[in-house]
Amino acid sequence: MHCYDCLELGRTTVASGGCVVCGAALCREHTTEETKQIQQIQGMGQQVHPTRARRLLCGRCSKAEHDRSLT
Ligand SMILES: [Zn+2]
Ligand SMILES: [Zn+2]
Repeated sequence: MHCYDCLELGRTTVASGGCVVCGAALCREHTTEETKQIQQIQGMGQQVHPTRARRLLCGRCSKAEHDRSLT
């Protein structure tokens, strides 16, 4: 599998990950790593997990998600 963003630039780079939103394969350079707090409703309260989950996104999906959170 090759990095989708690199293919668009005319390069072939072996992918090391993938975007969880669009499913594109990505090289390290094109991967945006984000962390996400996991929350769980438990009984009457809400429990927040101490470990933040990892989400890998491509540049485009990362930008799209941040644009969405601004509105
Ligand atoms: Zn790439
Ligand atoms: Zn994506």
